[in-house]
Amino acid sequence: MSKRLDGKVAVVTGGCSGIGLATVQRFAEEGARVVIGDLDTAKGPAVCKSAGGTFVECDVTDAVQVDALFRAAKEKYGSVDIAFNNAGISPPEDDSILTTGLDAWRRVQEVNLTSVYLCCKAALPYMLEQKRGSIINTASFVAVMGAATSQISYTASKGGVLAMSRELGVQFAREGVRVNALCPGPVNTPLLQELFAKDPERAARRMVHIPVGRFAEPVEIANAVVFLASDESSFITASQFLVDGGIAGAYVTPLDQ
Ligand code: NAD
Repeated sequence: MSKRLDGKVAVVTGGCSGIGLATVQRFAEEGARVVIGDLDTAKGPAVCKSAGGTFVECDVTDAVQVDALFRAAKEKYGSVDIAFNNAGISPPEDDSILTTGLDAWRRVQEVNLTSVYLCCKAALPYMLEQKRGSIINTASFVAVMGAATSQISYTASKGGVLAMSRELGVQFAREGVRVNALCPGPVNTPLLQELFAKDPERAARRMVHIPVGRFAEPVEIANAVVFLASDESSFITASQFLVDGGIAGAYVTPLDQ
């Protein structure tokens, strides 16, 4: 039986943990050949061994390393069909605008937003030459909604990812390349676990606003990425693809049973 991503080559950044790792596994199950770009040289080779892909050590804030990552996919597997630009950080020093310093602001912008610019810039020439490709950039539900528990640079970076994805989706729509912004709600990953372990009150406040009453599991986000990466989503581009347990649609959420 044919698989949903048979014959496709995918680059995944931040593929050693959380949403990226779950997506690497789902991509491989669906027949894609996967190249993982991540800083984590301790986990990378093991992840690739289990999913049968290739690990490239890559800091997504570095243009030379990002170019080398996409070139590796083309040279090893012959094409670049899917780019899941997903690596991101959410450090505790990024907080209210009143307390967040310029260094923390800039670091988050570099890793979360500039990296997506670099990855799209590196992937697009291959995709335009092939006249096909699907780029999925990880934004967040905070790109479309405000929170009183602010992480100001993170939120601004994700708004930037959303706006950039929309614009690229429109610009390249007639050239066979789709670009979508994935907007996950809170996901049960190390990034969020670390943040909320330091601040249980913030975790509890967030839970109240999720209609389904829980965080997502990484695979639930990965399944949406598989859909956006596959030809099943051929009429979806320039979209803000919310996978948020109903958060953005809610005014009042159900009481606990
Ligand atoms: P995670 O911390 O579990 O994984 C992030 C991965 O990115 C790690 O493997 C890390 O090594 C890698 N990475 C970090 N900086 C890098 C760099 N400079 N270069 C290359 N790799 C780097 O995170 P996650 O929760 O899976 O989040 C993945 C993406 O989803 C992020 O963009 C995040 O902002 C977004 N997101 C997460 C949530 C959530 O609740 N976890 C919600 C919405 C959006």
